[in-house]
Amino acid sequence: MPEGDTIFRSARALNLALAGKTVTRFESAYAQLVSVDDESPVAGRVVERVESRGKWLLIHFSGDLVLVTHMLMSGSWHIYRPGERWQRTRSHMRAVVATSDFEAVAFDVPVASFHTARSLERHTAIPKLGPDLLAAGFSGDEALKRLAERPDDEIADALLNQRVMAGIGNVFKSEICFTCGVNPFARVSTMSAAKLSELLESSRRLMAANVAEGAGDRIVTYTGLRRTTGADNPTARLWVYGRRGKQCRRCGTLILMRKQGVGARSTYWCPLCQPMPEGAGAAVEGWSGTIRRGKVGCG
Ligand SMILES: [Zn+2]
Repeated sequence: MPEGDTIFRSARALNLALAGKTVTRFESAYAQLVSVDDESPVAGRVVERVESRGKWLLIHFSGDLVLVTHMLMSGSWHIYRPGERWQRTRSHMRAVVATSDFEAVAFDVPVASFHTARSLERHTAIPKLGPDLLAAGFSGDEALKRLAERPDDEIADALLNQRVMAGIGNVFKSEICFTCGVNPFARVSTMSAAKLSELLESSRRLMAANVAEGAGDRIVTYTGLRRTTGADNPTARLWVYGRRGKQCRRCGTLILMRKQGVGARSTYWCPLCQPMPEGAGAAVEGWSGTIRRGKVGCG
């Protein structure tokens, strides 16, 4: 059975290939999917994003339509260039989502169905997203509760986990930790309730500021338009993200980067502004060498 991280990587690859593109063709071997497609065609819709939730893979199309697949034992998604020869025979094909650039093919997925946002919410087997940071009725208490349920998670991973709270992408993960002076690799359990609340508050503020300037999408993964420093100069928009080896805007120490978590996502931080909390254990020892090198480079 594909593990959660395999599906996470599939979702990420599909997202890179398909997101923002218009569907040019949809096919399926499942009558139920074909019937939905006949009534309200998938072709012509834009792929908004692809995400994984546990063992489920969700492809969100514009116009409130979500293709949900579960891999179970044998299922997989492949990505091909148009006209490229498939690695499995057509008899294994269960669904195809094609754009002008790519053809995403689901082979042998035993479970596939279309949903709306509403029917997805009612589907008890699919893990739910955490409270939406940008929603008017955002529940900080619920988000804190979900954080507390993951004491051993590294805080940056927990912030990125859409089941804890929905909305933070990989860029803001690093930026939020910086603005709160939190080491991204510190475990949730090492953080005070006040610090967790501060992280949530900072998350909401930064996300809201970026939505206000028209950034749009709810899961932020693109650095181009993001701004967290409050500076108008576009090159000074981000505190740490994408700035490995550059000087911290606050203290001048060199910014570090390390891959983190299930998807090995890049995490950026300033070792001086974001120290590891006391007694945080092995993670500190493991990184002292890197931190020293960073400071030497800083002069
Ligand atoms: Zn610093």
